[in-house]
Amino acid sequence: MLADHETSPGSICLHIEAGVPLVKNYESIASIIFDLTAGTVDIAEGPPCEYPYHRLSLNDCLRRWAAASPSLSQGEVRRPERGLSHN
Ligand SMILES: [Zn+2]
Repeated sequence: MLADHETSPGSICLHIEAGVPLVKNYESIASIIFDLTAGTVDIAEGPPCEYPYHRLSLNDCLRRWAAASPSLSQGEVRRPERGLSHN
């Protein structure tokens, strides 16, 4: 669905078009799907018609953050020392 081109030029997935002025020329640079029920985030690192989605588990991220910051269990929120990875 997010790779849709059917309603171009106003489609969800956009690409640079030759001859269109730069200020009116748009391109999808990433696509992100949050599924709050499943606790997942799917990320495509470019136009979704060209790049595969990588799934992150929010529960896995929270477990890593909690392990890196024991004070989380006491209600204090800190940033993790390491960024998210694509697993
Ligand atoms: Zn596309």
